[in-house]
Amino acid sequence: MFFSIYVHSLRYVSLRKIWCLLRCVVDYALMYVGLRPRVSRVPVSISVEPANVCNLRCPQCALGSGMIHPRAKMLKADMLRGILNEVSDSLLSINFFFQGEPLLNRDLPDLIAMAHERKIYTLCSTNAQLVDAHYAERLVSCGLDRLIISMDGHNQQSYEQYRIGGDIELVYSALRHLAEAKHRLGSSTPVIELQCLLLKSTEGSIDFLRNNYKRLGADVLTLKTAQFYDYEHGNALMPSEEKHSRYHLGTDGSYHLKGRLIHRCWRLVSAMVIDAHGVVRACCFDKQGEYTYGNIDETDIRTLWHSSRAVNFRQAVMQYRENIDICRNCDNV
Ligand code: SF4
Repeated sequence: MFFSIYVHSLRYVSLRKIWCLLRCVVDYALMYVGLRPRVSRVPVSISVEPANVCNLRCPQCALGSGMIHPRAKMLKADMLRGILNEVSDSLLSINFFFQGEPLLNRDLPDLIAMAHERKIYTLCSTNAQLVDAHYAERLVSCGLDRLIISMDGHNQQSYEQYRIGGDIELVYSALRHLAEAKHRLGSSTPVIELQCLLLKSTEGSIDFLRNNYKRLGADVLTLKTAQFYDYEHGNALMPSEEKHSRYHLGTDGSYHLKGRLIHRCWRLVSAMVIDAHGVVRACCFDKQGEYTYGNIDETDIRTLWHSSRAVNFRQAVMQYRENIDICRNCDNV
């Protein structure tokens, strides 16, 4: 999905954005051959965190499972405006999600509209528990380009095993409200991507979702392998079919990430994650804030992007990715 975003964002393209993307590609190529990337002036993609609180208790989410307890915070227009003032001319896309449920921030459509006005491709991801007819209309009219809706199951019994506290009927009604709003406003966006995590509890839903996602109001269906924090010794939610899993059972009786760890990472040379408090994280897998570069309240984005912490982290991934807990459990290259 990460690369397809760039393809879709070409509708907002400018020469400057293409130049910035090409510089990221060169940086990645340097990493590929084992040389330290010089790193483009600013990232071409940013993730912001509209709300660092959630209404569900998903067991493999650091926030929902209670692994972390951040001070509650909603993204404010001033912070987003500051980010856009610094980097909007280089940005191809903004993800309006990190941890937490973005729609809990009732200003979300206004924040998205602010980015849309600067001609930046916008994405959001939601558990769709809060999309009534009015919110659906706001999400369509703000100019949002893509909305990922998590639907991990097709009935309440399969759904609530992962989406603890969630109601699948609210997901179905959200899809209906969004389709009606798009029709009423004559809009082809947001593209609705229905996303189902491949878990033991959802394997029985795959055929239903494949056969029905369009009828339900989605444009795209994504079946996504799940990441587990505690994968080594297995997990009750791991899929029963190995083709549905990121992990395979080794001869030593423990689970391992499929494939070989590659000592490079596209995200590190192209994308930045800024949490609700303005702290820049090395990447979206840094749920606990172990690998941070600094705070945008105190330092400008360009300086943080080139800071010694950022440089050292990129270097560490190139040299000993297997020793970094978040990178050891990640299949991005
Ligand atoms: S966890 Fe590490 S390798 Fe994976 S995307 Fe993040 S920085 Fe890159």
